[in-house]
Amino acid sequence: MEEIATGFKTTTITNSRLSEIDFDNIAFGREFSDHMFIADFKNGQWSEGEIMPYQPISFGPSMSALHYGQAIFEGMKAFRSEENGEDILLFRPCENARRFNKSAVRMCMPEVPEELFINALKELVDLDRAWVPKNEGGSLYMRPFMFATDEFIGMKPSESYRFCIFTCPVGAYYAEPVRVKLERQYIRSAAGGTGAAKCAGNYAGSMYPARLAQEKGYHQLMWTDAKEHKYIEESGTMNLMFIINNRIITAPTSDTILPGITRKSILQLAREWGYQVEERYLAVDELVEALKIGTLQEAFGVGTAATIAHIALIHAEGTDFNLPAIEQREFSNRAKKELRNIQRGIVADKYGWIESI
Ligand SMILES: *Cc1c(COP(=O)(O)O)cnc(C)c1O
Repeated sequence: MEEIATGFKTTTITNSRLSEIDFDNIAFGREFSDHMFIADFKNGQWSEGEIMPYQPISFGPSMSALHYGQAIFEGMKAFRSEENGEDILLFRPCENARRFNKSAVRMCMPEVPEELFINALKELVDLDRAWVPKNEGGSLYMRPFMFATDEFIGMKPSESYRFCIFTCPVGAYYAEPVRVKLERQYIRSAAGGTGAAKCAGNYAGSMYPARLAQEKGYHQLMWTDAKEHKYIEESGTMNLMFIINNRIITAPTSDTILPGITRKSILQLAREWGYQVEERYLAVDELVEALKIGTLQEAFGVGTAATIAHIALIHAEGTDFNLPAIEQREFSNRAKKELRNIQRGIVADKYGWIESI
């Protein structure tokens, strides 16, 4: 191991694992790049942070996060420029940094200075830039996260935390159109709850209902509001959009909806292209009616992992409704392509969404 001069103390690996990776067959989230970043919060301040080889981390069994769940994360992607094959392009990283801090505040955790978040991300990706896939559909998934590290089992917010980032090369995700089940028994989030935060507990609570749906052959759930189960909220890791009578309908961001960066970007494109956008709750009844009379033109999930995941089938009120053929979906196909082309530097980024390293 040798130390090299960068902004952060950096310890590099001696033998890269890069040559062991089969980039044409990468399982999502199971291969990790050579390095990771860590910074610790203690006595009211953040350490400088350092980059080191990806490795296990060790804490006592009384570590607070394991008991009370103060844990948050982000998910974002870096792309290799298709224009020159060299530049690595980050998509709206400042949005993730800001959202991370909103999650932190909700979970009673310290904020990570935006500059620390962004610099750490950029240096880590720069060091492991060879890990950013070159193949079609591939990208480098980046996982910044923070958790409570006090070794203390009293029920109170931890006083110490670790902020960490690692990255994984990934292939195309959810390439297949998804089958979703409308969920009207369990809930993901409730008004006043933590649904708008990317905190670990939200996902833990949704796994059991998601598994029940998966056992019946559905990929994902379409959550409804906690109070009446009358309105559609979002999916497990994606915001949802519907096109009925040429209007794009998506739930407004609120304390029950995760404010997706893909959602925000797609809505901006839609408005620019002259589509009518309605940020409002779509009632289950309205969806079912549209499915029955055939006015639902498109339905899709939007999120970093899949960008746009077309919905092929919706299970609602005891019926499997098949949606229009994917090729007929004008907006979602166009938006998926446009976003892909912006993210990979193929079309000019007139929005200032891309940061190149
Ligand atoms: C992360 C996430 C999204 C999508 O957000 P992006 O910023 O677009 O990746 C949507 N819903 C939930 C519940 C999420 O966790």
